[in-house]
Amino acid sequence: MSPSALSFPHRRFNPLRGEWVLVSPNRTQRPWQGEVSKSDAPPALHYDPACYLCPGNTRAGGHQTPSYDGVYVFDNDYAALLPDSPAPASADAEPLLVAERERGTCRVLCFHPDHSLTLPLMSREEIERVVQAWSAQSRELGADPNVGYVQIFENRGAMMGASNPHPHCQVWATEHVPDEPAKEAAHLADYLAKHGSCLLCDYLKTELPQRERIVWENDEFVALVPFWAVWPFETMLLSREHIASIDSLTQAQASGLADILKQITTRYDNLFSVSFPYTMGFHQQPTDGKPHPEWHFHGHFYPPLLRSASVRKFMVGFEMLGMPQRDITAETAAERLAALPALHYSLAKAEGAESHG
Ligand SMILES: [Zn+2]
Ligand SMILES: [Zn+2]
Ligand SMILES: [Zn+2]
Repeated sequence: MSPSALSFPHRRFNPLRGEWVLVSPNRTQRPWQGEVSKSDAPPALHYDPACYLCPGNTRAGGHQTPSYDGVYVFDNDYAALLPDSPAPASADAEPLLVAERERGTCRVLCFHPDHSLTLPLMSREEIERVVQAWSAQSRELGADPNVGYVQIFENRGAMMGASNPHPHCQVWATEHVPDEPAKEAAHLADYLAKHGSCLLCDYLKTELPQRERIVWENDEFVALVPFWAVWPFETMLLSREHIASIDSLTQAQASGLADILKQITTRYDNLFSVSFPYTMGFHQQPTDGKPHPEWHFHGHFYPPLLRSASVRKFMVGFEMLGMPQRDITAETAAERLAALPALHYSLAKAEGAESHG
């Protein structure tokens, strides 16, 4: 496809999901009168007595969060899944009303005791401890014969419905493979059967020489805006090696993942000088004990912001009923993210103030 064709409306196929995204680069030329609003992160509060995730505080039902000083994991007090849910009645009588048992566990994983921190403001070593905890959780929960899949995810920012700014994520272990990874698994398996190779290994081989959608890379991981991206600044983290799950990372890969997380989240914050909201998570092989040569471990960032700290993209109208649509191209988004400084804006500000003082 020539570059000129890509400057007109076109649709992009997502081979991983078997879906299309409509891209309309021409629409970015629409005049935009609004200011690019800048808003600062809330004042740094290292300990919040009202936060149930801060060390030493009391949670719902009288549970106590201990005085932890690294990563802290506990079973969610309001878990959406339970390990011993009973099986519903047989649906034989009503084939259109089928219910299945979904047993599982929901855990909360605090990244750090400091209430004011976020991934981009944590050190690589601190993020690496989080990666090791994800790995350990994945292994432990996945070893349960009733657990078929372990989903790690972080919702950050009130815009994404995060109820607490304390740096944390969730780990949900489910009996069945959820739809999103199941859809990807089907396309990964299909691609392997057809080509005898891994879809995401081949995708990385396609992207690396083109360099049009790469945001950041290190020896172990690559962060890129996928060709078929739906959210304005969506990115994907891909391991260079064909690894199936987070619990099989080598030491070097774990620190490479910590680095790429710091790099990408710092650039996100620097884009609009705001603590950038997103949903982030990892996809990996099911924990059913079977071999999964089709699976290539990777991360997704789905951030909603479009033009400023307050102007977000909504998935409504045609997008809900037809197909996703975007204005800014994946190439432009990658170029903008890659051009941003690796130093967090709040630290750059502090350095600037020091040099002027
Ligand atoms: Zn807190
Ligand atoms: Zn692969
Ligand atoms: Zn995925």
